Amino acid sequence: MSARILVVDDIEANVRLLEAKLTAEYYEVLTAYDGPTALAMAAAERPDIVLLDVMMPGMDGFQVCRRLKDDAETRHLPVVLITALDGRSDRVAGLEAGADDFLTKPIDDVMLFARVRSLTRLKAVIDELREREASGRRMGVIAGAASRLGGSGGRILIVDDNDRQAQRVCAELAIEHRPVVEAGYDNALMTAKGRVDLVIVNTGARAFDGLRFAAQLRSDEATRNLPILAIVDFDERARVVKALEIGVNDILARPIDPGELSARAKTQIRRKRYTDYLRDNLDHSLELAVTDQLTGLHNRRYMQGQLEALMRRSGAGGEPVAVLVIDIDHFKKINDGFGHDVGDEVLREFAVRLASNVRAIDLPVRHGGEEFVVVMPDTAVEDAQRIAERIRLHVAGSPFRVMGGQELLSVTISIGVAASHGPADNPRSLLKRADEAVYEAKSQGRNRVITRAA
Ligand code: GH3
Ligand code: MG
Ligand code: MG
Repeated sequence: MSARILVVDDIEANVRLLEAKLTAEYYEVLTAYDGPTALAMAAAERPDIVLLDVMMPGMDGFQVCRRLKDDAETRHLPVVLITALDGRSDRVAGLEAGADDFLTKPIDDVMLFARVRSLTRLKAVIDELREREASGRRMGVIAGAASRLGGSGGRILIVDDNDRQAQRVCAELAIEHRPVVEAGYDNALMTAKGRVDLVIVNTGARAFDGLRFAAQLRSDEATRNLPILAIVDFDERARVVKALEIGVNDILARPIDPGELSARAKTQIRRKRYTDYLRDNLDHSLELAVTDQLTGLHNRRYMQGQLEALMRRSGAGGEPVAVLVIDIDHFKKINDGFGHDVGDEVLREFAVRLASNVRAIDLPVRHGGEEFVVVMPDTAVEDAQRIAERIRLHVAGSPFRVMGGQELLSVTISIGVAASHGPADNPRSLLKRADEAVYEAKSQGRNRVITRAA
């Protein structure tokens, strides 16, 4: 997977060196020599990753990073800070400024490409979710953008059989989070499948294979999206690379620095909450987009797509599509006499009766207000009429029990029936014919089915 990488450093030789390394691996490289230019390019060019030098005159790397992370448009861009080798406090400050990762100078090629690969993967996931969220918002179903999500108060699972190390990690994290320690593989796996925000696994554990544990989390549906922080001896480069290949999100080098531990944990938890937020909103928005909240039936938006597809198929030589337009008679009187809530109860009860009196292939829909539609694929108009009559009787035949059974209301409906005819017909004129039939049913005295021939 290739990516566009923005390299920011005030020293030209550093930029050129990184550019050469990355270009050789087929990455596309953008360059900037100072903070303000980097911000402008990040906004305009939308790179996939930003490699950012900490030490720059004027606006330094921390400030650039903070600005990127404060702006909703660029917050999701992964930022890798480049620090001096002994810059431990820089790294902690950087992670606190919202950086996603860091590399130390001189830059090690293995680490560079391992980081870039793992962040490219993450970026692809976030982009996809953001894209779907944005289309949800265009459809008008998502209220607002993500507010700034915090990275504290997380449930953290520490998987380590080195008791002293585990207790130290646990004590440090307990300041801000709710950590638990598991020393055995199976128990750890069970805990991970519960509600956990982050897993920290010691890859040097004696009693179990930590990398295998990480790989298992990645392959299991229930834990696939859990962030994993792997504890590795930093000179064990092969293990670092392996861990990142398995899909571990981040590496924590031994000996563990407490400040770095808590900063990395926070970054992972914040990131998980962001992707969870996007996922939740996505599921919720898709559901909202096609479902009527009062009755649980599909809504008009959903019906339009279905009806168009069915009529295209029907027009191309398939069977006819029939529709019923159903309007509750004198519904206003129910509202006026018993209140809007009772009106709602009637709508819900009607939806249940409707849904249980159509066939499995039919699509019952709340079209709006007290008007419903049933779309019937592959249905001749006589069959549609018979089903309409059955629905009418099921409504008029027994009263609606409302207000917790205190009140019985008799309800009737008027139904208009129409079916498609040939390739020249379209959803609008089909619904219009059924509408006119309802109107006729009303004027003939209500509680009846009228069929409109083509
Ligand atoms: P008709 O027999 O001619 O259809 O008379 P009607 O009273 O059913 O028709 P009308 O269109 O005059 O009134 C429909 C009423 O339905 C008006 C509106 O306030 C009410 N209504 C629309 N949506 C809802 C809803 O979600 N809940 C409730 N309780 N009432 C609704
Ligand atoms: Mg009505
Ligand atoms: Mg009406």
